[in-house]
Amino acid sequence: MPDDLINVSYIVSAILFILGIKMLGSASTAVRGNRISSLGMLVAVIVTLTKGGLDYHYIIIGLIIGSVIGLVAAKKVQMTGMPELVALFNGFGGLASLLVGWSEFEKGGEGNWFLYSVICIAILIGGITFTGSLVAYLKLSGKVGGNAVVFPFQKFINLLVMLSAVLIGLILIIPNNVFENGAALVWALIFLALLVGVLGVIPIGGGDMPVVIALLNSFSGLGAAAAGFVINNTVLVVAGCLVGASGLILSIIMCKAMNRSLANVLFGGFGTSSSSSGTQVEGEMKALSVEDSYYVLEAAQSVVFVPGYGMAVAQAQHVVKELSEILERNGAEVRHAVHPVAGRMPGHMNVLLAEADVPYEQLCEMEEVNAIMPTVDVAIVIGANDVVNPAAIEDEDSPIWGMPIINVHQAKSVFVLKRGQGAGYSGIINTLFFRENCRMIYGDAKATISGIVSQFDE
Ligand code: NDP
Repeated sequence: MPDDLINVSYIVSAILFILGIKMLGSASTAVRGNRISSLGMLVAVIVTLTKGGLDYHYIIIGLIIGSVIGLVAAKKVQMTGMPELVALFNGFGGLASLLVGWSEFEKGGEGNWFLYSVICIAILIGGITFTGSLVAYLKLSGKVGGNAVVFPFQKFINLLVMLSAVLIGLILIIPNNVFENGAALVWALIFLALLVGVLGVIPIGGGDMPVVIALLNSFSGLGAAAAGFVINNTVLVVAGCLVGASGLILSIIMCKAMNRSLANVLFGGFGTSSSSSGTQVEGEMKALSVEDSYYVLEAAQSVVFVPGYGMAVAQAQHVVKELSEILERNGAEVRHAVHPVAGRMPGHMNVLLAEADVPYEQLCEMEEVNAIMPTVDVAIVIGANDVVNPAAIEDEDSPIWGMPIINVHQAKSVFVLKRGQGAGYSGIINTLFFRENCRMIYGDAKATISGIVSQFDE
């Protein structure tokens, strides 16, 4: 294919990516946006493959192996396991950038300082993303403990390792140095990049993992953009920058949702066992039966559902929709309040509620629902915990102090649906459960809500 046509096709791809991302901003256009972006990627891949001068054997083998792994992983993964899968995919993106940079370096030949700079950046960011994502995957999947791992002089050691990597990168881009000590230095750069990834993510734990995943996603984009410069592929640069920018924006939005700075998330050591011990609470948790909850709900004029990770585990979204329809028919005003970091990935609850066809008009942002919370008759917390913990706004010593929450404790009554007395993701005691207006309805969320639905049916 002629170069001009290739470049025009790449511009078309970039436009499709940007349009697709724009459409992801609203739940009603998100599915179409995803398809449009995929189409952009298909155009980019096909056009790149027609460039010529490629060894198609390796490409086809790679394509088959990658497609099979991707397809099986995407089909098999449970919705609750999605963040782990995203972490793993980010990691592979990083590894690809590292390999592109490394192989281009190994080719040797005449290169200018710019080429060697982008090679070093691709290796450094790619390596950090690869091992950082593997650690995030292991923590999220529970294969290693989720707590932050901290040790003496950690920040100093991390800084030293990072500076050494940058220094080696700088030596590599100095002309004439490249071919003399190049191979050994590149090995050292790869090793240090991989080490930075591990050292950077182990001190992060608790509820901060979503931000780390968004940040690693951003890194994988920047690594890809650097790889795009290395192999002179415009569309890879554009796509990488889009991923890099959107990942960073998402990280910042999530930090705001937790009222933390990015630096505090990365270096604060939140989630160490000492930091997450939580408050001592007086009082007791009061249990309520499904039958008794029915009498309260039957009379309620205004009900807010607050879903959390437990709703995903129980796969309760369809029965939640069923109950919300029953309550509406019964004359209640129904809302579903979604906290930005509820569940285990950004937008987790929105995806589940959309899957159950909950009308968009019933979805409420945190600020919106908090404004009317004192007028709400019943707030039903479905497997949510950290995102409704009043300690975040009342206890300055709490590790989650300052994180905005959905103020269900201000509702006239609160029903908390959970299996037992387990803590939330951050391991902190929830002071909500001990409030006068709060009742615990123990059991799997799906079974509990089905029980309430059948009470209405009788
Ligand atoms: P939490 O993880 O705080 O709490 C979930 C609750 O669900 C638990 O207390 C558990 O209690 C209950 N539960 C589990 N299974 C069931 C079930 N089958 N039926 C009923 N209840 C169940 O969830 P939140 O959504 O409130 O908060 C999300 C947390 O995860 C935040 O700390 C956030 O920072 C973090 N996080 C968020 C990510 C994101 O991107 N959204 C990604 C990674 C982490 P019990 O065991 O007693 O049943």
